[in-house]
Amino acid sequence: MRHANVAVFVPHIGCPHRCSFCDQRAITGQQKAPTPQDVRDAAEAGLRTLGAAAREAQIAFFGGSFTAIAPDYRRSLLKAAYPFVKSGQYAGIRLSTRPDAIDGEILDELRAFGVTAIELGAQSMDDAVLRQNGRGHTAEATRAAARKIRDAGFSLGLQMMTGLFCDTDAGARRTAEEFAALLPREVRIYPALVLRGTALCDRYVRGEYRPQTLEGAVALCTDLLTFFERRGIAVIRLGLHETPALDASFVAGPRHPAFGELCRARQYRLAVEQAMRGGRFAEAVAVSPKDLSIAVGQHRQNEEALREAGHPVRFFPDAALARGWFALTDESGRPRRFRAVPGAAG
Ligand code: SF4
Repeated sequence: MRHANVAVFVPHIGCPHRCSFCDQRAITGQQKAPTPQDVRDAAEAGLRTLGAAAREAQIAFFGGSFTAIAPDYRRSLLKAAYPFVKSGQYAGIRLSTRPDAIDGEILDELRAFGVTAIELGAQSMDDAVLRQNGRGHTAEATRAAARKIRDAGFSLGLQMMTGLFCDTDAGARRTAEEFAALLPREVRIYPALVLRGTALCDRYVRGEYRPQTLEGAVALCTDLLTFFERRGIAVIRLGLHETPALDASFVAGPRHPAFGELCRARQYRLAVEQAMRGGRFAEAVAVSPKDLSIAVGQHRQNEEALREAGHPVRFFPDAALARGWFALTDESGRPRRFRAVPGAAG
């Protein structure tokens, strides 16, 4: 089960890299670097809103390069967060960083300050894709960092991007396979978007780069979602968070405010379609009440698509079903249960 986190965004001001999808000017010009007092304020605010649930939550430093920022500044932020973990008010500290910004010394420091989970912005496991998108690290750097993180006892998370310049759907699947071999506890999947002021945008304007379509990105990311969940790896984010900054700089690409929901709805629909193909069933599909909107899909898209595929189904809630499960009634009137979500408990 996932728990709410208290998120603190730490921009990498003065980052020496030039990732194709990243707008450095937005990072250095508009984002304010948080102070230790900001961290304390965010943690206090989290305690007020989460109440007792904060004990299961983490203080999360996001921004992608936490271990590459100036060491004194980094330690000042960790020092501000650590007392909340030491006292048991929060479960731990989570952060995201670059694969080439991890070594034994850094990991010792992070452990001493109560960090429990580390996410690597790996993006791709194809060296040519990494090079073409200016990432400044190799796939081997991700493998090495992932091993060190796991060996040191931290929870490992990996982040990938689909649709980068020179990448393909097959390449994204290979990245997913390599990720799975690194045994992360969780992954995030972000389809690449074209943002103003980025190298990707220059290529897009020159006609050298074509972003994924929304339909293509949803289809690929649904496959990746199912791939990871079948291996017991949680997918904790699909698609970028909608923010005013994204709104201001968005140019093109597979952007949708509920991208993750589109993928989960597609996953559900494919599972129902597959089950329907495997026998003769009544048209009523029982689903967990909590899954009803995902099962039906936005604007009843799933019902529509299933009808077109020759399965004119009707979804209805059944409180007896656990999340991720649905039930069909066979010819003899017997209900048969199926998993819509790989690994769903129940
Ligand atoms: S995404 Fe790339 S360019 Fe942007 S801050 Fe991170 S490492 Fe630097």
